[in-house]
Amino acid sequence: MSEKILEVKHLGKAFGSNQVLRDIDFSVSAGDVTCIIGPSGSGKSTTVRCMNFLEEPTSGQVYIDGQKLTHANKTKIIRESISMVFQQFNLYPHMTVLKNLTIAPMKLHHKSKKEAEDLAYHYLDVVGLRDKAHVYPTTLSGGQQQRIAIARALCAQTKIILFDEPTSALDPETIQEVLDVMIKLAKENITMVVVTHEMGFARQVADRIVFMADGQIIEEGTPDHFFDNPSNERVKQFLGKIIR
Ligand code: ADP
Ligand code: MG
Repeated sequence: MSEKILEVKHLGKAFGSNQVLRDIDFSVSAGDVTCIIGPSGSGKSTTVRCMNFLEEPTSGQVYIDGQKLTHANKTKIIRESISMVFQQFNLYPHMTVLKNLTIAPMKLHHKSKKEAEDLAYHYLDVVGLRDKAHVYPTTLSGGQQQRIAIARALCAQTKIILFDEPTSALDPETIQEVLDVMIKLAKENITMVVVTHEMGFARQVADRIVFMADGQIIEEGTPDHFFDNPSNERVKQFLGKIIR
C-alpha cells in the first residue's frame, strides 16, 4: 500500500446559493497521476482549487499526509505540499524566467539566491529551456511559457503538483511539448493531479481517472476500465463526443 498524501473527504463548495460541489471523496497516493475529466462546468477547477484552498471549501475536509487543513495551518502546509500549474500560465510578465523561478523559493522557502538559481537551472533542464533563463515570458510561445510554469512548480519542491487544464490555452502545435514534459514527470513518479481534456495523455499516464459531472464524482477507475468499460451512461456519452 502506498502512502496517501492527499485526501479529500465529503468536500462541498457553494458560491452563494449555488452548490457547485457535493460530497467529493478522493485520495491521491504518492507517485500517482490522477486525471480529472468531465464536461465544462462540472466542478473540476473548483475541486482542485479547494485542494489548495484557493477556494475555501464550505464543507468537508482536506488532509495532507494525514494532517487536516485548517484556517490556521493551511498556508504553511500548502506552501510546503502543493503547487499548481494554471491554464493561463500565470507567470510574472515583468520578471525574467530566472526571476519567476527563484522568487518563491527565496521569499517563501528561505533558499539563498545561489540555491534558488541552482534549483531553477536544474528544472529548466528538466523542461528543456535552460537557454531561456534571461528572457521575459512574453517573448516565449505558449508552450514554452507553460513549460516554464511547470519548472516554477517543480522549484517549489512540493509533494504534489495540481494542473488545471494545462494545455487548453495552447496552440495545437505546442500542446505536445507540454504533455511530453508531463509524461516525463509522471515517469519520475512526481505526484500529479491533472484536470485535462487530453484523452490520449490521460490514457497513457494516469494511474486513475476521476470523472465529474454536476459537482460530483460519478465514475472512478483505471484508464482501462474508464475508456474500455465505463459503467456510467454519462461517461459513455462524454467519451462518445470527445474521442475522435
Ligand atoms: P469546470 O472546471 O469543470 O469547468 P468549475 O469548477 O470552473 O467547472 O465551475 C463549476 C461551477 O461553479 C460552475 O457553475 C461555475 O459557474 C461555478 N463557479 C466557479 N467558480 C465560481 C466563482 N468564483 N463564483 C461563482 N461561481 C463559480
Ligand atoms: Mg475548469
